[in-house]
Amino acid sequence: MTHIDQVIDVRNPATGESVGTVPVTDPDDVAAAVRELRLYQPEWEAIGPNGRKEWLLKLQDWLIDNTEHLADVLQSETAKPRVDALIDPAFAVDLVGYYARRAAKFLGDDHPSPHSPLARVKALTVTYRPYQVVGVITPWNFPLAMPAIDVFPALAAGAAVILKPSEVTPLSAVELARGWAEIGAPPVFKVVTGAGATGAAVVDNADYVQFTGSTATGRKIAQACADRMVPYSLELGGKDPAIVLADADLDRAAHGIAFGGMFNAGQVCISVERVYVEAPVYDEFVEKLTAAVAALRQGADDRESRNDVGALANENQLRIVERHVNEAVAAGARVTTGGKPTGVGTFFEPTVLVDVDHSMSCVAEETFGPTLPVMKVADEDEAVRLANDSIYGLSASVWTGDRTRGERVARRLNAGAVNINDVFANLFNFAMPMGGWGKSGVGARWGGAAGIRKYCRAQAITAPKLPTMTKELFWFPYDMNKLVVAVAAMRLAGARGLRRVDLAKVWRLKGGK
Ligand code: ADP
Repeated sequence: MTHIDQVIDVRNPATGESVGTVPVTDPDDVAAAVRELRLYQPEWEAIGPNGRKEWLLKLQDWLIDNTEHLADVLQSETAKPRVDALIDPAFAVDLVGYYARRAAKFLGDDHPSPHSPLARVKALTVTYRPYQVVGVITPWNFPLAMPAIDVFPALAAGAAVILKPSEVTPLSAVELARGWAEIGAPPVFKVVTGAGATGAAVVDNADYVQFTGSTATGRKIAQACADRMVPYSLELGGKDPAIVLADADLDRAAHGIAFGGMFNAGQVCISVERVYVEAPVYDEFVEKLTAAVAALRQGADDRESRNDVGALANENQLRIVERHVNEAVAAGARVTTGGKPTGVGTFFEPTVLVDVDHSMSCVAEETFGPTLPVMKVADEDEAVRLANDSIYGLSASVWTGDRTRGERVARRLNAGAVNINDVFANLFNFAMPMGGWGKSGVGARWGGAAGIRKYCRAQAITAPKLPTMTKELFWFPYDMNKLVVAVAAMRLAGARGLRRVDLAKVWRLKGGK
């Protein structure tokens, strides 16, 4: 029986208006939901990747047919510009198609080559069997795309999924669950709403936990998973650097970094959060970036697209951004555009800061807002050293007219992804792994087959290739002569130089004189 003691009132951050309510699911009900998922998962696994493909493609149809409604709901709980609100469903459509269609290939058995000629007597098979229930816990910045990003590969793998969306923006996830029910798909996907306690209950019951959110919560989840000995994957905070080299196309760099820093009002884990510019082009770049950011239109859209930058997700986020900017200014930084809340809802002006350094919170801490602190560097080496001076390592960008130089710099950066002359490009390439280094995460999502196999346990199966005898060479009773033959054969197959064929050395293993 479901007992709802509490509800969450979801609000539009631009207006403060209430846009819906969801129940707070208590831990017992989360446990019951997981038990129910366990009943249906075996059948979901049994229909195989091609059976699941049919349901996932039906969901894709539903996402396309309901795009405008989904964008309305998403916009109501985030106050995003209309274009941003339409990106979530478009992204979900692309992703579900990829994993639906490729799952059969990605989940196919592997038959690896044996490591040694001696091992050729066995047929080797690796199979991939899903975890029964995957728990997905998501943040508020992309209320539909963040669930999609992990729920779809897990479902394609054959797991059942319990999703706990952010309590700040749960309505889009509820719509996704409604879509799953509406197409008549097997009941292997459930959404539970609530805050930290509901999320913790998901962690207490799932067989694998996929989390996206803050580093502090990620640490708690890792500890809880360690207690239960269940695997997990975490995508956490970031402080992505952009490096602008003197040979870059400065107009593209300025527009690209303005987009990378201000997209979704900077509330993206892979936002550009700090910029390093080689000295010879620093002044010109700052001028161009300031102009690009100052030209952005900010405000609340309805179904029409009029704005580029929307509101921050909540008051708490507004306070963090304001603190970072105020602390920087108090320590000597200069604002070249923006710099304060607009005074309406949770909007904060798109802001460029100069004369900043690594002692300031706007450079050292994750801001998750529309700010771009810019620093002058002497050369590539200094840019790399400062870019790597962070606890985070999610992604980075390098802007240069020389691709070889760009790749050389990329390989020196401690980040899970580096985009040359672009931002976010890795996020639209599901064939690539997306994972954070350092405190930005553990594990990765996607990466082609890896993105679906991560939700599976690999099983190694061996079978004799040759007719079997009553006993294998190694079985009891022990016999030194047989051991010596085996060791000689192993050395011949795997050692090097004279040791491969030194039979006297093998013979001495028999001991005695
Ligand atoms: P953010 O503030 O960026 O959303 P959080 O890490 O606080 O970052 O939240 C991310 C998600 O984790 C949300 O869905 C939230 O409800 C959930 N959450 C918070 N605390 C816990 C916890 N202890 N265990 C599991 N999930 C949690």
